[in-house]
Amino acid sequence: MLFFHRTREKRHGILLDRPLDDPRRCRDCDGACCRAFPSVPLAWEEFLALQALGARRLESSLTGEYRLLIENGCEFLAGGRCAIYPYRPEVCRRFYCEDLAPS
Ligand code: SF4
Repeated sequence: MLFFHRTREKRHGILLDRPLDDPRRCRDCDGACCRAFPSVPLAWEEFLALQALGARRLESSLTGEYRLLIENGCEFLAGGRCAIYPYRPEVCRRFYCEDLAPS
């Protein structure tokens, strides 16, 4: 289980084994998870795809790690929503905010 903070609000989330695409889960949080972590790990193909989409905050290392830096808010966050939702990285697609889950 992951814990993250936005201002004083505490939220809880988990990383699912596989992506669960359901836009209903991405409502009304103002992109809390897209602001709460330092970076999103990427596969090489995702790095290239985000580069093609104009990402400016990409990071790569000689050890073969690729990341999208999202500290202080992901550059693709627009109006509280992901502007590249159909193309977002797998980690973003696997993240499940438990606070916003339907009961
Ligand atoms: S790519 Fe989209 S879902 Fe992933 S952190 Fe950025 S705005 Fe959020």
